[in-house]
Amino acid sequence: GGVREKAIDVVVIGAGQAGLSSAYFLGRLGFVPHREFVVLDAEDGAGGAWRHRWPSLRLDGVHGIHDLPGMPFGAPDATRPAAEVVAGYFADYERRFDLPVLRPAPVSAVRHGAGDRLLVESPHGTWAARAVINATGTWLKPFIPYYPGIGDFRGRQLHTADYRSAEEFRGMRVVVVGGGISAVELLTEISAVASTTWVTRRPPEFTGEEFTPDKGREVVAAVERRVRAGLPPGSVVSVTGLPETTAIRRARRLGVLDGRLPIFNRITADGVAWRDGHFVQADAILWATGFRPAIDHLAPLRLREPGGGIRLDGTRAVAEPRLHLVGYGPSASTIGATRAGRDAARGVRDLLKPGGAVRQ
Ligand code: FAD
Repeated sequence: GGVREKAIDVVVIGAGQAGLSSAYFLGRLGFVPHREFVVLDAEDGAGGAWRHRWPSLRLDGVHGIHDLPGMPFGAPDATRPAAEVVAGYFADYERRFDLPVLRPAPVSAVRHGAGDRLLVESPHGTWAARAVINATGTWLKPFIPYYPGIGDFRGRQLHTADYRSAEEFRGMRVVVVGGGISAVELLTEISAVASTTWVTRRPPEFTGEEFTPDKGREVVAAVERRVRAGLPPGSVVSVTGLPETTAIRRARRLGVLDGRLPIFNRITADGVAWRDGHFVQADAILWATGFRPAIDHLAPLRLREPGGGIRLDGTRAVAEPRLHLVGYGPSASTIGATRAGRDAARGVRDLLKPGGAVRQ
């Protein structure tokens, strides 16, 4: 209904790294907080998906490239949970730059409105925006692949997104599925208190090297090619492999990485089975199988290509130039997020205020 719509220039959806970077650059480019742009975030507080990382995750266990534009992270405390440290940094950042973040404001849909407007619907109301920057990440969309028998398993099944602590698995037999850094981290923790089996779909690719910004740029370029072609971005690990981290070195030292098995063929009531007759009993299956872009709210815009992805030119949706996606595909990392936020903010400025003042 028209009367309750709030007219605004730009809505940013999501306040993780990518959304905050976008909001910062919108401010720098002269958009006035609250009056000309808002950020709608589904969470109860600052931190984006980092709020939900499991409590034992420390910042020395991740690649650790987290600077938001204009305010360096410094040397973050690696003794406290990453979830707390990053949430604290993001909260300070929002205050320092007076970013207009509304919470909790989960956006349920973005639709075509009248005239040049996109309608952004949330429990806070509906905004009629001239441009939208989507920065919703992947955390709300955990991915579990299908295997025959998956519904018959009588033990516990959970995804990385549900994991809290190894203690929940003490004394159990746990199958950990997945070839990424999260799988290795959780496998290492759980194997200290439980008997574990590690299975991956492909042989894990240990790069033997630390993750560097150069490596990061190569990865970004690889994913960029996919998204330009309208393909789904694909998992980051499929392009990064497993770089050397504290977690990997510890896992190797403890022998946790030995004895990996290829993915099973089916799941039974009490375990997992391979075609050749091999069987492993399990009390729990932990799916460390990644995430997909959390973009269901964009479905009314019908932007998906036959290949399954949203085709982008830089950050702009090719089929809907009023929409930018940041933290999607090539910018779905802390490296890419800052640059993407700047590109999206500039794209929006060029669309809405062509020739406008530049306060950069
Ligand atoms: P998010 O941080 O996920 O923020 C998205 C925000 O949008 C959230 O606040 C969410 O609630 C909100 N949202 C979602 N849907 C809606 C909606 N419909 N309406 C309103 N709000 C919505 N990357 C690295 O580069 N380096 C690392 O070291 C690293 N470590 C990682 C460790 C783990 C355990 C995991 C799981 C991922 C890691 N990543 C790392 C990937 C990391 O998630 C991204 O790099 C980055 O944090 C994503 O930022 P973002 O802003 O795109 O998304």
